[in-house]
Amino acid sequence: MNDWNIQSRAHACEECEQGFVDKQLYHTLLVTDAPDLVRKDLCDACWQDKFSADFKKREGFLSHWQGTYEPPPPTPPDAIQKSTAESLLKELVELNDPKYLAASYILAVMLERKRIIKVKDQVTEEGHRVFIYEHPKTGDVFTIPDPALQLNLLETVQRQVADLLEYGLAGKPPAPAPAPDTGEAEASDDQTDTLAAEEVVAESEPETTNA
Ligand SMILES: [Zn+2]
Repeated sequence: MNDWNIQSRAHACEECEQGFVDKQLYHTLLVTDAPDLVRKDLCDACWQDKFSADFKKREGFLSHWQGTYEPPPPTPPDAIQKSTAESLLKELVELNDPKYLAASYILAVMLERKRIIKVKDQVTEEGHRVFIYEHPKTGDVFTIPDPALQLNLLETVQRQVADLLEYGLAGKPPAPAPAPDTGEAEASDDQTDTLAAEEVVAESEPETTNA
């Protein structure tokens, strides 16, 4: 399956096409239709009527949860200054490059600890554990495979994440020729956002909030 697509929350029921209203209960059903992840958002009436009895037997069934619909917030003027970690994770998820898999996982754990994203479920796909994350504010859903991080690689991944947070995907700019004030000390200023090894281990079993 394509683990990386961000699945945005619909603003209307997929079955009856009625628009969701503020605070309305809705159901999300995730199925895999290889190689894609397919998300259906449904009103409670359609869910009870057509899905609730046998949804677990649907082909490719992956996960189900209930949510409360919130209308999308108006785009704030300073949207561009969103949390760096948050926008970086979004970029990495959209980029779909395996070399950033571990970095994405570390970022997701960081954002989960800050309660910016939530684990909705964890599933096993072809023997690999996959976490299903939701961004509660927007309802966006994406999946992050467990990279089964080895402790001895953790430092390397943390450095990669720190560099990405500091320099973005373009990477470190080449050092300017006369460089009086640049140095490795400055590059590691942003360490507050990275995790100590034991914290990642402790957090590597995210709590599933799915009922
Ligand atoms: Zn409906």
